[in-house]
Amino acid sequence: MGLFEKFKDGLRKTHTNLVHEIKRIVTLSPRLSGATLDELEAALLGADLGIPVTEAIVAEVRKSYETQGRDRTEVFEIARGEVEKALSSAAAPLRKLATGVTVVSIVGVNGTGKTTTAAKLAHWVQSRGDLAVLAACDTFRAAAIEQLKLWGQRVDVPVIAGAYGADPAAVAHDAVVAAQARKAAYLFVDTAGRLHTKHNLMQELQKLHRVMDKKVAGAPHETLLVLVTKLDGTSKGGMIVAIQKELGIPIKFVGLGEQADDLQPFNPAEYARALFDEKE
Ligand code: GDP
Repeated sequence: MGLFEKFKDGLRKTHTNLVHEIKRIVTLSPRLSGATLDELEAALLGADLGIPVTEAIVAEVRKSYETQGRDRTEVFEIARGEVEKALSSAAAPLRKLATGVTVVSIVGVNGTGKTTTAAKLAHWVQSRGDLAVLAACDTFRAAAIEQLKLWGQRVDVPVIAGAYGADPAAVAHDAVVAAQARKAAYLFVDTAGRLHTKHNLMQELQKLHRVMDKKVAGAPHETLLVLVTKLDGTSKGGMIVAIQKELGIPIKFVGLGEQADDLQPFNPAEYARALFDEKE
C-alpha cells in the first residue's frame, strides 16, 4: 500500500463524512448563500479542523464563487490546498545522531497509545535497518510492562524492564547501557502517563531524563508527545490541523491503526489529499 492509500485508509471515517457532506452542500446550492457557507463551515469544524483553517477555506470558497462562479469553484481542491498550506512547515523527521544511540522519550497522558507507539516506532526504524531497544519505564502499570514485552517479541526488539513499581530512572539507566552494548541506533523509552499539572510526576520525568543525559550527552534527543494516534477510529481526523495550529509543535508520525506497521511519518500533502480526495 502506498503512502497516500495508507493515509486514506486510516482516515476513512473522516474522509467519508467530509466528502459526503461537502458534496451534499455543493449540489444543493445553485448559488452561494450564507447558509451554504455556514453548512460548509459546520462540516469542516465537525472534522475538527479547527477555526483558523476552517475560516480560511470558507473565505477562499466565497472568493472563488464570487469571481469564478459556482461551476468553477473547486471546493475540494480549495480545502486540500488550505490544509496543506497550514501544515506545510509542520512535518519533521525523527532525529538520528550521526554516532551512538539516539534516545527517544515517549510521553503523554494515559491511554493515548504511548506503549503501542513506542513498539511501532521500534519496528519502523528496524524495518529501515536501524537496531532498536525498548525501555519499559511505565512501571506504574504492570500491564504496560507486559504489553511492551509482548510487543518486543512480536516486532523482535529487546525490551529492558524492571519490576512493577520499580524506579523508572533505574530502568532507563539500564536500558541506555543495554542499548549502547548492543550498538543500537535507537532507544525508545515508554513512560508512565501523566498530566503536565502533576508536579511530582513531572519531576520524576525530569529525573528520568537527567539520568539518561548522564549516560549519553543530550539524551533524550527527542521527546515525542503522543497525541495523534487512533485517527483510524474517528471522524475527527482533521484534529491534526487544529492541534498543530494551537501548539505550533512539529508532527513526526501519525498512528493509523493497532498493528505494528500502522504508524506513518507525517506528510502534509498526502494527509490533505487523503482528507479531501473527491472519490469516496
Ligand atoms: P498508553 O496508556 O498511552 O501506553 O496506551 P496504549 O499503548 O496502551 O494504547 C491504548 C489503546 O489504544 C490500546 O488498546 C491500543 O491498541 C490502542 N491504540 C494505540 N494506537 C492506536 C492507533 O493508532 N489506532 C487505534 N485504533 N488504536 C490504537
